[in-house]
Amino acid sequence: NTFEGDESGSLKPRQTPGMFYSKAKPTPVKSPELLAWSEELAKELGIQKLTDQAEIDVLGGNKVADTMQPYAACYAGHQFGNWAGQLGDGRAITLGEWEAPDGQSWELQLKGAGPTAYSRRADGRAVLRSSVREYLMSEAMHYLDIPTTRALSLVKTGDQVVRDMFYNGNPEYEPGAIVMRVAPTFLRFGSFEMPAARQEIDNLRQLVDWTISRYYPHIQGEDRVMTWFKEILDRTAELMVEWMRVGFVHGVMNTDNMSILGLTIDYGPFSFLDDYDPMFTPNTTDLPGRRYAFGRQPSVAQWNLGCLASAIAALFPNTQQLVAELEGYETVFTLKYRQMMGNKLGLDEVREEDEALITQLETLLATVKPDMTIFYQLLGDLPQEERDSQKIFSHFQESFYGEPAEKAKTLLLDFIKAYSARIETNTTSREESQQLMRKTNPRIILRNYMLHEAIEGLTKGDDQLFNKLQKAMKQPYSRDFDEFFKKRPDWASQKAGCSM
Ligand code: AMP
Ligand code: MG
Ligand code: MG
Repeated sequence: NTFEGDESGSLKPRQTPGMFYSKAKPTPVKSPELLAWSEELAKELGIQKLTDQAEIDVLGGNKVADTMQPYAACYAGHQFGNWAGQLGDGRAITLGEWEAPDGQSWELQLKGAGPTAYSRRADGRAVLRSSVREYLMSEAMHYLDIPTTRALSLVKTGDQVVRDMFYNGNPEYEPGAIVMRVAPTFLRFGSFEMPAARQEIDNLRQLVDWTISRYYPHIQGEDRVMTWFKEILDRTAELMVEWMRVGFVHGVMNTDNMSILGLTIDYGPFSFLDDYDPMFTPNTTDLPGRRYAFGRQPSVAQWNLGCLASAIAALFPNTQQLVAELEGYETVFTLKYRQMMGNKLGLDEVREEDEALITQLETLLATVKPDMTIFYQLLGDLPQEERDSQKIFSHFQESFYGEPAEKAKTLLLDFIKAYSARIETNTTSREESQQLMRKTNPRIILRNYMLHEAIEGLTKGDDQLFNKLQKAMKQPYSRDFDEFFKKRPDWASQKAGCSM
């Protein structure tokens, strides 16, 4: 492309006005060792499994192929609601683009490959813990059918990385690792906020034109920028619905972590819900505000779309239509959300009166706080003719974290009564309805405590659980991995406390 880039390749952190990227060379590591490789993704990309040390060296950043022109992207963003100015890839380096046999082109990016012009108060490295989490989770999201960046490889670097967490005044050391992330593009809302904030309107226009023609080639005509914004809004709403479907909490929905393609991007302190709690946030730095809590994600997305709209506003004669589109987000989201909830419940269609049923269910979940994943599985298995209160309770027992209060029990019974009556009016068969539920409600999710245990194992050189999880996450809707179909154990209470 013809974009302005900062060619110096210096590692010194700096502001780069007028630039879309800065050259960046991965900093070599001690002894790169391949821990994981995504077979299916590699096949899709048309890349043979890398086995020679010379090839693994590329995945660890020790070698840059002649055809690669590594760089770190410049972007900005709003973090926790505040303008944060220039951010940029502080620990991610794009090696280049790869064209797959099907013609799709992919950005190949190393995360944790050392400092760039955008490293802020940190070393540009990633620890094994966070890398395993990103590797497993991004692949798991893909198999859940949720738009996401992918991960091709996970390499242990052999170096110890200092984390900026200090206990008793002493730095903490953890093994370092590097993930090769893959996506058509890693452009974010923040990529557009940067030139807008610097009032580089020509750059902004160039970037928008290029993004549309390259990643949204179906959009043409005079209104293309508006059409493009509407499609981003649509994809973002869709992504939020998908997160709500499986109980995913991203944890850091800053505008620099919002993909311009509507992908889940930048896996940090994310978590799935265990017990259903709309106010749950996995991010310690998000307390006590809980801006990025589970139930707030859809509205935060709208706020973030507002930042994107402001960034591109300069490309329009006035902002009326942008504002109108932005206000339409709620309608767009709600429509998709209802349809998704209808699928979770196995409804043949979502009727007007089903809204009340969905609200009833949400109230029930937020009050009883059962395990979300297990609850929906049990709901699908509930015999349609079951009316006996005691039997209904014991059917759902497995999903409770503690004995529900009387009021909660009543909510459950009332809901089941209304739900069963509604299911009876389905024009589809019970079998079809259950099938819909089975493909909408995951059975296996990568729970935080499982990731934690897998990482502990890997740190000690035991990859058994890690490998098992890799297999299981590929079939999240199947019953073949029921050893992972269980509630979070008592020792692993769900609390914020996972970090990048
Ligand atoms: P995040 O919260 O991971 O989205 O990161 C926010 C910003 O901080 C991004 O510009 C990152 O590149 C930067 N950053 C995060 N971790 C590191 C690190 N270990 N070294 C350098 N920069 C980092
Ligand atoms: Mg980020
Ligand atoms: Mg991050």
